[in-house]
Amino acid sequence: MLAGKTALVTGSTSGIGLGIAKALAAQGANIVMNGFGDIAGPTGEVAALGVKVLHHGADMSKPAEIEAMMAFAAAQFGRVDVLVNNAGIQHVARIEHFPPEKWDAIIAINLSSAFHATRLALPAMLAADGGKGWGRIINIASVHGLVASSEKSAYVAAKHALVGLTKVTALENATTGVTCNAICPGWVLTPLVQKQIDARVAAGSISNADAVRQLLAEKEPSLQFTTPEELGALAVFFCSPAGNNVRGVAWNMDGGWAAQ
Ligand code: NAD
Repeated sequence: MLAGKTALVTGSTSGIGLGIAKALAAQGANIVMNGFGDIAGPTGEVAALGVKVLHHGADMSKPAEIEAMMAFAAAQFGRVDVLVNNAGIQHVARIEHFPPEKWDAIIAINLSSAFHATRLALPAMLAADGGKGWGRIINIASVHGLVASSEKSAYVAAKHALVGLTKVTALENATTGVTCNAICPGWVLTPLVQKQIDARVAAGSISNADAVRQLLAEKEPSLQFTTPEELGALAVFFCSPAGNNVRGVAWNMDGGWAAQ
């Protein structure tokens, strides 16, 4: 379905971003990956699906590096057809103890990076398909883009704002072939969440399994993690012809979390 198209997935060396990169690659899209840590392993996993894969190590908190990454993608593949704004970090603390530098980093990486990548991707998307436009912008928000939890002020603020940015992006392009939607996962067992499980293990002197049960029981009625594969399948749906008129939604995949 996406043969000949290019998808750029930020923060795709791990977790949800890697799952989405694989799902889009399985549809034939060439992939520009981004993120830190081990590069060879994740890029190899995506390349094994038979598409061209490149990595750019832009730090998504730095607008100049985002500009360099978008220029790199355009130079290598012509343009970005599918942009997945996924890179994100977390920090957990009450507001009066929240380090200002963590606030700034979360707003930069989880919110402002999506603005920068979107503004840089849009011109080529709007010019695609003989000027009718074709593009898909998928913002990985969170159930925390819809509801709040204590001790996540920066994250909840950034994700609510990302849902707002999603709606504006969808509206400004509503008469074109460029759509923008948000995905709002509940708990997904990635390194970002394992850190929160580790903190519960340390604070309560409990086992990892008990900490997982506690974490899920507090918020997620299904008592199950959402998986990167499930989120990848939703991203593929947004890219499909059936997604042509899905615009500005914030689609939760959260085991019933926000239904409560
Ligand atoms: P993860 O920690 O597994 O992956 C994060 C990715 O972002 C990694 O590839 C990392 O290298 C990259 N990254 C971090 N800082 C970066 C920076 N400054 N520049 C470039 N890349 C950077 O986390 P994840 O759980 O897969 O999270 C991915 C997205 O999904 C985030 O936006 C997160 O808020 C969101 N999300 C996660 C969950 C969950 O339960 N895991 C739930 C809802 C939303």
